[in-house]
Amino acid sequence: MAVPFRRVSKTKKRMRRSHLALSVPGMITCPNCGEMTLSHRVCPNCGFYAGKQVVVKKEKKEAEEN
Ligand SMILES: [Zn+2]
Repeated sequence: MAVPFRRVSKTKKRMRRSHLALSVPGMITCPNCGEMTLSHRVCPNCGFYAGKQVVVKKEKKEAEEN
C-alpha cells in the first residue's frame, strides 16, 4: 500500500534502496593499450581483441589537428 512521503524515515528509505544499486560490468585493462574495457569485447580505444588488430581505427586526431 502507498505510504505518505514523510511517514517513511530516511533510514527505512535508504535500507530499502540498498538493493537497488547497479552492478558493475566486467571490466578489464586492455593488454595492448592499458585502457579499461569491457571483457570479451573489442577494445574501443585501440581495436584489439585476443591479441590481434580486429578493427582499424580511423585516425581522427590527426585530421582535427590539421
Ligand atoms: Zn586497447
